[in-house]
Amino acid sequence: MKPLDPNKFNKYIMNTARDVIQEYQLIEPDDRIVIGLSGGKDSVLTLHILVNLMDEFDFELVAVSIDEGIIGYRSNGIDAARANATKLGVELVEGSFKEEFGFTLDQTADLYQSACIPCGVFRRQLLNKISNELGADKVATGHNLDDEIQSFLMSVFKADFRRFSKFGPKLDRIHPNLVPRIKPLWKIPEKDVGMWAVMNEVDVHFAECPYSQSSLRAKVKNYLNQMEGKRKGTKLSILESFSQTFKFQKKAIIMGQCKLCGEPSSLNVCKACEMVEEIKNHLSKK
Ligand code: SF4
Ligand code: ZN
Repeated sequence: MKPLDPNKFNKYIMNTARDVIQEYQLIEPDDRIVIGLSGGKDSVLTLHILVNLMDEFDFELVAVSIDEGIIGYRSNGIDAARANATKLGVELVEGSFKEEFGFTLDQTADLYQSACIPCGVFRRQLLNKISNELGADKVATGHNLDDEIQSFLMSVFKADFRRFSKFGPKLDRIHPNLVPRIKPLWKIPEKDVGMWAVMNEVDVHFAECPYSQSSLRAKVKNYLNQMEGKRKGTKLSILESFSQTFKFQKKAIIMGQCKLCGEPSSLNVCKACEMVEEIKNHLSKK
C-alpha cells in the first residue's frame, strides 16, 4: 500500500473541518470561543484546527481543561493539554470536580452503573459555567464523526428522543446561560484523528479512560467498528441518514434554571445538583 502523503492528509483534515464550519456557520466574526481541552487526540486536533483558522474566521480562543479526578489517567491528559496550549499560545483555564463539587469522580465510581454518567453531567455543567465566566459565545468540543453516531445510536437504543435535539454540528442557544456547542470534527472519523496525531507527532494523551469499558458507548463503538470493517462507509451512511431524517430541526426545549445552582435546567433542580446530594450522602455514610 502507498504511504500516505502527510501534506495531503493534513489538508484533507483542515478542509473537512473548514467545510463544516462554513456550511453550518459554526463561527461568526468576533466570537469568543472556548475549547474544551482534555489533552486527548480529538480535543487537541480541534485546538490545532481552530488556531489555524483564527485569522480567517476572525475569532478569539480560550482553552478550558477539567480535571474529573481519575487517578492514573487524567493528570497525563492535563499535561498534554498544557503542552499544546503553551505551544500554540492559547490561554488555558483549569477547573476540577474536587474544587467545584467537593469530590473526585473516583469517589463516585461505585455509586452508578457507569462512572460516565456522573462524569458527563458534571463535566458539561462545569464547562458551561466556566465558559460563561469567560464570556464565551460558543464552546467547541472534540466530538468526531464516531462520537456523534455512537451518541445517536445510544439515544435510539434508549428511545431518548429528547436527546435528538442535541445532535448536529451546532447547537443553538436555548437559554441565555447555556453556551451553544460547536463540533468542528463532526465529519472526521476517529481513526483519522488518531492518524493525524501520530503522523504529526503531536503531544496527545492516547490512553483510554479506565472507566470507558463499562459504558454503553464502548459496546456501541465496538459494534460500529465491526460493521465498518465489514462494510466500509457504514458510519458515514448512518450520519447521512440521521442528517436527512431529522434535518436538525431543533424542537423548542423549555429551559429554566436550577433553583439551587442557577445553571440552565429543564427541571426545578438540575441533574448535577441532584447527583451532588446523592454523592455527598453516600460519602458521608462511608
Ligand atoms: Fe468520563 Fe467516562 Fe469519558 Fe472516562 S470514559 S472521561 S468516565 S465520560
Ligand atoms: Zn443545579
